[in-house]
Amino acid sequence: MKIVLLIVVLIVFPITAYADEGGFKKSKKLMGTEMEITVVSADEKAAHKVIDAAFAEIRRIEELMSTYIPESQISKINSAAGKKAVKVDHELLRLIKRAVEYAEMTEGGFNIAVGPLIKLWRVSEGGNIPKKDEIKKTHEIIDYRDIVINEKKETVFLKKNGMAIDLGGIAKGYASDRAEIVLKKNGIVSGIVAVAGDINAFGKKADGNKWRVGIQHPRKKGTFIGIIELEDEAVSTSGDYERFFIRDGKRYHHIIDPKTGEPAGKCQSVTIIAKEATATDALSTGIFVMGPEKGMELIERLPDVEGIIIDAKGNMAVSSGLKNRIKDK
Ligand code: ADP
Ligand code: MG
Repeated sequence: MKIVLLIVVLIVFPITAYADEGGFKKSKKLMGTEMEITVVSADEKAAHKVIDAAFAEIRRIEELMSTYIPESQISKINSAAGKKAVKVDHELLRLIKRAVEYAEMTEGGFNIAVGPLIKLWRVSEGGNIPKKDEIKKTHEIIDYRDIVINEKKETVFLKKNGMAIDLGGIAKGYASDRAEIVLKKNGIVSGIVAVAGDINAFGKKADGNKWRVGIQHPRKKGTFIGIIELEDEAVSTSGDYERFFIRDGKRYHHIIDPKTGEPAGKCQSVTIIAKEATATDALSTGIFVMGPEKGMELIERLPDVEGIIIDAKGNMAVSSGLKNRIKDK
């Protein structure tokens, strides 16, 4: 029985998976990915209704922030690049502002101005290897400092023609945080929200134990590198094994190093634990680009942030505050 459960869970969550459960749960495909929400409740019907409200919130965020939706505010900002400032919702403005803060924190490793490179590599659409000069040409239009945020007018302006914001490295974390807020507003005191690999756990399971999340081994599918118990915390994993394509025996994945314009090569996976999934999502992507040394330095420097970094050779490093929390079952 346990083995069957593990297999099911791993299909749904390619990166991070529950090691066990408790409560009522529902899954859905939104934002181009599988997501699952579990809540502890005495009333199954009410639980499903609340979960649906949380999914509706995630759909609202997708409509605001997806580059795949031409009417989204992000698409409008992008199509006005080099031309004019675009009025946006306060919420989107705030998230873009936060994203720029994470860019500064990660020395440009996390960079929402990577849009032009994402379009060249098309990893989520099967993949394409751009020519060197195509990559070079994007160099001028991927600087996050060219994102002009006017807080008074609530506008965003991309200074140069061809610039494009891509929130793929932070929007799922933000959606996970928002879904948790909706659940709590509707009276849920305990649950777990998994927007693909961006997970929020709050309260405790029905049996009184803490929520447990298994961190997947980046090279051995179906094997966990460890299990972590969470309580009122978020966890995200960024890996090179989840969205990728292989050409001539080489792996090309979806996290692009803005400095080289190519898939970042210093890590296999980065897991970050913090209070909010917006933070864990942005930091796991950014630290993946920074690499193990600078990345671990940053984790140790930031308050309330812990992490696991698996470098390109498969060596695992665990931050000081997490060492005693990783379990093998
Ligand atoms: P996932 O989306 O698989 O959970 P991540 O959170 O690591 O993984 O985000 C990867 C996504 O972020 C990419 O698909 C792309 O949309 C975007 N992205 C790629 N490289 C960067 C980068 N250096 N900085 C910010 N976002 C990035
Ligand atoms: Mg991320």
